[in-house]
Amino acid sequence: MDHRSSKGICYLIGDPVAHSLSPIMHNAAYAVLGLDMEYRALRVRREGLEQAMKSLRSQDVIGLNVTIPHKSTVMPFLDDIDDVAKEIGAVNTIVSRDGELKGHNTDWLGALDALGQAGYGPGKGRKGLVLGAGDSARAVIYALAKADMDLIVSNRDPEKAEAISKRFGRMTTIIPVSHEELPKHIHDISLIANCTPLGMEGFPRELPLDPDLISKEMTVLDLVYVPMETLLLRAAKEKGARVAYGYEMLVGQGARSFELFTGRKAPAEVMRRVVLENLKEAGHQ
Ligand code: NAP
Repeated sequence: MDHRSSKGICYLIGDPVAHSLSPIMHNAAYAVLGLDMEYRALRVRREGLEQAMKSLRSQDVIGLNVTIPHKSTVMPFLDDIDDVAKEIGAVNTIVSRDGELKGHNTDWLGALDALGQAGYGPGKGRKGLVLGAGDSARAVIYALAKADMDLIVSNRDPEKAEAISKRFGRMTTIIPVSHEELPKHIHDISLIANCTPLGMEGFPRELPLDPDLISKEMTVLDLVYVPMETLLLRAAKEKGARVAYGYEMLVGQGARSFELFTGRKAPAEVMRRVVLENLKEAGHQ
């Protein structure tokens, strides 16, 4: 194994990053495997991205995670991007080797992990509704389209929903639908995925869709993980639906990033345990 991959620094870059659970999750993984590594969060504003990417090309930095608002704007600063991240149009993981930066996307795998934990198997003949059309929605849509699901996408800005339907139209059928039209389309939906920030800090009392559209045959995935039980997930449970948690996606994408950074199998159980402990300690259950 490349000796640099078990020694060095990894960063999360984004804005905001102060309350991210990624540092405690990755540092716990390094500690349990005895790796000489450290994971830090670095606040990088939109206008500071180019400069930050120059200074992060150092010998000590072996990997980066990228979060809001840089997942697509970071792409021009990389030397290489894998085909999946190109197709999704977003990078959340960057591996640095010998001065070269290569972009990857592990969010789509994290979403599949979260669905798997909930017992939902995406597949042909199943239909999903994706709420939102941003960087994470593209990763979730990629994951579901790759599993041959047909999709409906609904977004505040309808032009972005149109653009997503065109972008992934080669993989599957994706119908852009306004929020008002959702009742007409909901009857054969087996999965709802919230890829908007509604439900998290800043919007804790807002639901991304009318809870009366949820039925007990459905699985509801919420990418929001603070709080762990969002209003949407609570409503889903009340309707008897299965729920898939955002923190499981966080652990899943983080474990895949860890493996790209270090070349080792991620201690996913340890990562999940510290994330859950921290969510509970902070009262974010
Ligand atoms: P993004 O690229 O900024 O996209 C945000 C999306 O949410 C856009 O579709 C936007 O609609 C919509 N939106 C924002 N504010 C809204 C509002 N007030 N009302 C209705 N729609 C609104 O962000 P992202 O990277 O996709 O992240 C979205 C959420 O997923 C965040 O909460 C993030 O923390 C979470 N996330 C979680 C994980 C995980 O591992 N659990 C991974 C990635 C992301 P417009 O297009 O109309 O602006």
